[in-house]
Amino acid sequence: MKRVFFVDFDGTITKVDVCAAMVEAFAGDGWREINDLWEKKLLSTRDCANMTFKLFRVGLKEIKSLIEKIEIDEYFQEFLALCRNQDYKVHILSDGYDFCIETFFKKYGINVSYYANRLVYNDGFEVDTPYHNPACGQCGTCKKSLMSKLRENAEEIIFIGDGYSDTCPAQNADFVFAKGVLYNFCLEKGVRVQHYDSFKDIIHRVTPESRLG
Ligand SMILES: [Mg+2]
Ligand SMILES: [Zn+2]
Repeated sequence: MKRVFFVDFDGTITKVDVCAAMVEAFAGDGWREINDLWEKKLLSTRDCANMTFKLFRVGLKEIKSLIEKIEIDEYFQEFLALCRNQDYKVHILSDGYDFCIETFFKKYGINVSYYANRLVYNDGFEVDTPYHNPACGQCGTCKKSLMSKLRENAEEIIFIGDGYSDTCPAQNADFVFAKGVLYNFCLEKGVRVQHYDSFKDIIHRVTPESRLG
């Protein structure tokens, strides 16, 4: 079966949310208020990120060393191997930052396609959103519009995620593996979903023969 997996990064592939860890470690007072507005969808990701990074008192070097301490889901690489063997496409869709994903994947020797916001440092941080969708206005990386572009001729679209930026794309998938706030959201909205704790649960459920959705 032609399958495509769209996978969130923060808190899904990583054990903790890298963005949250960064903010907790490096941002000065005021980030919680900004984050609350973003969770309520009163701020776009781009505005939220640029406001939050103004509160940072460190550079890329400190961010890199924090990321290198973050752990990976122990079964993620096995999941990628399964997808390679079965010829399933995998795309990472993240409303976090390219710099974090690159640093993390380099550490683990992972090579997989990803779409994320761009984080640049030039005498202060700046966030750019190359996968922004004007019709959406909310997301930095609009996962929903990337999914419709990248699905090609797949027969089954599977989304894997955990958080607020996953609620919209999850509703556009045939099947969802979820944890955290995304799981409850899917239950409430009647989205076909299975809870997972680690990619081990996903590996066990995905069989080449039968559809999930
Ligand atoms: Mg996440
Ligand atoms: Zn969007």
